[in-house]
Amino acid sequence: MEERKGRKIIMFPLPFQGHLNPMIQLARIFHNLGFSITILHTSFNFPDPSHYPPFTFRTIPHNNEGGEDPLTQPEASSMDLVAFIRLLRQTYEDPFRRSLAGEVGKGDTSSCCLVSDVVWAKHAEFAAEEVGIDRMVLITNSVASFCAFAALPLLRDKDYLPIQDYRLDELVTEVSPLKVKDLPVMETSEPKELYQIASDMVKGANSSSGVIWNTFEDLEKLPLMDFSSKFQVPIFPIGPFHKQSDNLLPTTKNKEDYETTDWLNKQEPQSVVYVSFGSLADIEEKEFLEIAWGLRNSERPFLWVVRPGFVQGTEWLEALPSGFVENMGHKGKIVKWVNQLEVLAHPAVGAFWTHCGWNSTIESICEGVPMICTPCFTDQRVNSRYIVDVWRIGIELERSKMDKREIEKAISSVMVEEGDGIREMCLELKERADVCLDKDGSSFKNLENLVSHILSFNSYAKIT
Ligand code: UDP
Repeated sequence: MEERKGRKIIMFPLPFQGHLNPMIQLARIFHNLGFSITILHTSFNFPDPSHYPPFTFRTIPHNNEGGEDPLTQPEASSMDLVAFIRLLRQTYEDPFRRSLAGEVGKGDTSSCCLVSDVVWAKHAEFAAEEVGIDRMVLITNSVASFCAFAALPLLRDKDYLPIQDYRLDELVTEVSPLKVKDLPVMETSEPKELYQIASDMVKGANSSSGVIWNTFEDLEKLPLMDFSSKFQVPIFPIGPFHKQSDNLLPTTKNKEDYETTDWLNKQEPQSVVYVSFGSLADIEEKEFLEIAWGLRNSERPFLWVVRPGFVQGTEWLEALPSGFVENMGHKGKIVKWVNQLEVLAHPAVGAFWTHCGWNSTIESICEGVPMICTPCFTDQRVNSRYIVDVWRIGIELERSKMDKREIEKAISSVMVEEGDGIREMCLELKERADVCLDKDGSSFKNLENLVSHILSFNSYAKIT
């Protein structure tokens, strides 16, 4: 521990919930191990520093001097992800370099490395080289989905892409067990740029001093072997992160959180269907109504997160028929946001209907909760295939087939018909997640190796 005192790790997350959460959890893990932590962040969508007193937060000034952050302007909110990443790079590339240089040269603590999100790996590479600091990357997706993402340019050359409707169910042998419909592509008006992002991520990860994953060996043995056979970089699968950083969880709960817990406390064990599609996905009004009726007709208690903006063209729930909320009485609860870790850990929750974001997936695995999988884009499709066909801890409900009857059927299937088999697999995987964190477990050992690796860095600041 002594050795690590005064050693600073500088971290740069991408400003999306699904990227921020694991970076902050990783920061907590490092902090518990004696490192000091500085988090560089954009002025768009960053965590409340008062929730994380042990960390130093530094806002990177955006390049639109005197004006608003381009990322917060209305045009940005309607961009596809590829365009948004381009805007993020244009807005923050130079300011990031300057902020990193300022941070490395600051104070009496020696900066031992930069940990950046893999999407930023290429920019981080240049910036870190300039100031002479070692650099690692955090990949916030599963190993399987990163390998599939890395294979996109190859799959384009082999004519799997762009995806043709008649091939959707065809197995892609290069990334088995994925089918064509599972490939992690994004809808974008700039498909070439998507391949560029994939190739930048791969190069940036490969040239780094190491890759950190929020996964564990027993969960992704084959994808980890696949990655190691293709990339010559040390890897550190040390997840699940959130199970190692509980002692620093923010304790601030709002009124809605207390009401949700009270509601859950009144439900029977394993009776509730928890529904959330994460922090980014949105749906059409027609789909929203099918979900609403499907949940209601299932006759089971449900807790449904509807983020403001989740339903395209509406503020919140106004698309629901009048009287819907009143008639659902205590049977269902609709909220804007929940503390998902607490909800999944609650004994009343019997299934999670999810978009299969990686954080949601691993959080559900850790609590042994069966999933209904409705992936919306990119890596979510890969995660869904693994949940359903590899780990066998959930069932598929394709978005294109999501009408109220199919929803009812899926809920009944996971809660009753297929429920026992799936629940058994869930418990087995949950146990393996627990074991990997034990003293002899793979994640515990990988974390020890990661700390030694970081302490072996001989970063020298060129700017002092
Ligand atoms: N989350 C939450 N409350 C909600 C919905 C989501 O705390 O009501 C958290 C969830 O626990 C997870 C993250 O937001 O850590 C979402 O990340 P994920 O990778 O699952 O999906 P994304 O939002 O990136 O699509």
